[in-house]
Amino acid sequence: MESYMWWTEEQKKFAEEVHAFVKEVMPRDAETRWTREFPWDIFQKIGERGFTGAGIPKEYGGLGLGATGACIAAEAFCRMPGPGRVFVGNMLGGLRQLIEYGTEEQKKSMLPRIAKGELGAIVITEPFAGTDAAAIETTAKREGDVYILNGKKRYIVSAGVAKRHMVYARTSDNPEDIRNYRHLTAFILEKGAPGFSVEKINEIIGFENIQNGVLNFDKVPVPVENRVGQEGEGWRVMTAGLNFERTLISASVVGWIGELLRNAVPYAQRRVQFGRPTIDIPANQFKIADLIVKTKMARLMTYYTAYLWDLGVDITVESNVAKVFNCESAMQASIDAIQVMGGDGVTPFYPIEEIMNVAKVEHIAGGTMEACRLVIFRTALRQMAEDLKMQRRVIHPTLGVPIPGKTEKMKEIDEEKLLAALAEDYRVNPGLFISREDIRELFDVDNAALDELLISLEKKGFVKLYRTKKGIELAKATYEGLNRAHPPEYYRWFPSWINNGKDRIF
Ligand SMILES: Cc1cc2nc3c(=O)[nH]c(=O)nc-3n(C[C@H](O)[C@H](O)[C@H](O)COP(=O)(O)OP(=O)(O)OC[C@H]3O[C@@H](n4cnc5c(N)ncnc54)[C@H](O)[C@@H]3O)c2cc1C
Repeated sequence: MESYMWWTEEQKKFAEEVHAFVKEVMPRDAETRWTREFPWDIFQKIGERGFTGAGIPKEYGGLGLGATGACIAAEAFCRMPGPGRVFVGNMLGGLRQLIEYGTEEQKKSMLPRIAKGELGAIVITEPFAGTDAAAIETTAKREGDVYILNGKKRYIVSAGVAKRHMVYARTSDNPEDIRNYRHLTAFILEKGAPGFSVEKINEIIGFENIQNGVLNFDKVPVPVENRVGQEGEGWRVMTAGLNFERTLISASVVGWIGELLRNAVPYAQRRVQFGRPTIDIPANQFKIADLIVKTKMARLMTYYTAYLWDLGVDITVESNVAKVFNCESAMQASIDAIQVMGGDGVTPFYPIEEIMNVAKVEHIAGGTMEACRLVIFRTALRQMAEDLKMQRRVIHPTLGVPIPGKTEKMKEIDEEKLLAALAEDYRVNPGLFISREDIRELFDVDNAALDELLISLEKKGFVKLYRTKKGIELAKATYEGLNRAHPPEYYRWFPSWINNGKDRIF
């Protein structure tokens, strides 16, 4: 298995060890899928070997291999998609929340349990709150030293088998708290708490022997010391966890695509049609080449994201980019692998159809593709604001066309100068409004003075304004404004080949 140059020797050795282990237990995984047993024995072995400690610091009983180590483990375990999902979401998934927001006592008591392989569950989704996770209705009311939880959660992986549950509940209905995302709180809930039960187990494609279900909370007491972070900090705890979980899911994809290749290539080398192996058919070669492209890109994106996390860099954008790119690649890759293998690809006698099913599930679980795209759009636009500033363009003095350029900032501004600037902007970007930011790059003017001038020009009908809650954001000269600024000839421009400039065309 390829390792990256930035991996430590310990991480490289760990990768070899964990892949060797997975190879050893893969037959048992296949067996439990057919018999539809939860693979307890595999998880017991994982715990004994301490693989779930990959992302846990050594002082808390882990292997101290960071997010990179956790992804190495996730990639390897997801060569068995069912147990891999439990491993990723629910053994590793609760980690970050505790590492970042847990008290010292919580870290000392919980992290060694995760390192030893104890199953956990991430408990966010509810019947009436999916993508809109901030709208959860499960309540937690403080009564002395305990919080009392009431509500229902659904789609929870490891429902009934998990010992530890990272539960998010509403602790405030104050509109101000809701507006500021301060209405949620995170808790660790232990299995066996009074009033806590499994309501239903779902059948989910791709997860034939992995429990996923609905949980019911009927006046469940949770000790205050099990609160993770402060009251009202639940949204931040959840987000930290989701970025990490999305990175781990991206690592899962790498495990699946690798399996697609490991199956499709040897298969096509042995399947003979029209007197030659099907791998000799260019249509199959292109699909296999695409599988390799996706494997390489998905792997690089995943381990780069994990590396950033290990360096302490915010990975909100990268983890969501990785999840979108990897999950969509996995879906297409599994369809391609099935196509290469023909009918055999769609039977459960090869592991390809299972991978296609889990690839589809991961378009939804851990944050839908749309939810990830929303995060990417909002966060990346903020992060890239400097790069995304509009390139200033000016009209070339002899060519008369817009080209990149600079203009001196003017100290003086009045209605006439402002209107002339808007008219000039019409020549450069005839279909666009100009932003407040752009105007302030042209003139040394404060916001209040600029508003006053713009509103006055608007009243005279020379300017059209676009307003948001924040105030005036965009402006453009109206037809009357353009005429007021310059005579019509000023705006004319014809390419040199029009009558070679000799004749007037109008
Ligand atoms: C197999 C599986 C395992 C899961 N495991 C867990 C778990 O362990 N713990 C847990 O808490 N949850 C878990 N989930 C729940 C999962 O996180 C949710 O299913 C997911 O967040 C989407 O919620 P929803 O299914 O209610 O879809 P909805 O929120 O109803 O969305 C339906 C569709 O509308 C789109 N949509 C919704 N809002 C917007 C928007 N604003 N803009 C654009 N598109 C939008 C969605 O992207 C989706 O395509 C799991 C789900 C599955 C299927």
